[in-house]
Amino acid sequence: MDTVRLNNGVEMPILGFGVFQVPDPAECERSVATALEAGYRLVDTASAYGNEEAVGRAVRGSGVPREDVFVTTKLWVQDASEAAAATAFDTSLAKLGLDYLDLYLIHQPFGDYYGAWRAMEKLLAQGRVRAIGVSNFYGDRLVDLILHNEVVPAVNQVEVHPFFQRADYQALMQDRGVQIESWGPFAEGRNGLFTHPVLAGIGAAHGKSVAQVVLRWLTQRGVVAIPKSVRPERIAENFDSLDFLLTDEEMASIAELDGGASLFFDHRDAASAARLSASRIHN
Ligand code: NDP
Repeated sequence: MDTVRLNNGVEMPILGFGVFQVPDPAECERSVATALEAGYRLVDTASAYGNEEAVGRAVRGSGVPREDVFVTTKLWVQDASEAAAATAFDTSLAKLGLDYLDLYLIHQPFGDYYGAWRAMEKLLAQGRVRAIGVSNFYGDRLVDLILHNEVVPAVNQVEVHPFFQRADYQALMQDRGVQIESWGPFAEGRNGLFTHPVLAGIGAAHGKSVAQVVLRWLTQRGVVAIPKSVRPERIAENFDSLDFLLTDEEMASIAELDGGASLFFDHRDAASAARLSASRIHN
């Protein structure tokens, strides 16, 4: 598996497996087990997904050595403070049934995430997590967090797909030593992604599917990708996307699909801040 080296030297697989919107425990456990069997070595969950127990069961039951699997989970807004983050980390680790985590992310740029970051810096220093980072941070908040804290986030997990490519932001993150990770690599199928003529044409030239072209386009740009599927044939198909290269012309034609805006919602909107801040995952 190709890896990227994070700013603290930790190696992270460039392709992984996401489990957002897989609430059914049996389906989640089965999907993660299938992914690990197919060769994935990175699993991305979150406390807010409600499936950390199922992910942990699959990882622990897979027969793959713990040190060979890169496990990510995320801190929800409700727990974004110094005291609550420490407790939330313990809860996530207990649900996963693991004794350390590979990557812990602040899920959203809301709440007292400076306090949360200080708690995460401590967890990092204690060796309970190998890397810490953020998610859904736009440039202003990312740079501010970097400038006013000790540890530079290792990763920023943000929406990246052919219709929202974020090349400029990737360059800024690279300058700051922050690895970009794509969520929603297929834009969850929006804009007719899976039948898009440009992507399908490129796929035909390589004997690859649209999904494989999109994943190769991301990883070839140095973007970590974590596609989600609950179907074994798609889990395998998505993993089988690292054995070919897109030409410069193909990369350039995909670059033209960029719409420059989210297909979901903008984290800088007041309404988004209010909605996500009101969402609670525990009492
Ligand atoms: P994706 O862009 O990965 O799309 C998933 C959808 O595509 C599902 O409907 C899946 O259906 C379908 N699909 C998967 N593979 C194929 C294929 N080869 N051919 C056709 N259809 C396919 O969406 P996600 O939102 O799940 O993003 C991926 C991961 O990113 C998440 O699981 C999560 O880990 C993370 N994420 C993080 C967020 C954050 O705020 N930090 C926000 C959103 C996601 P099916 O399952 O039926 O195959």
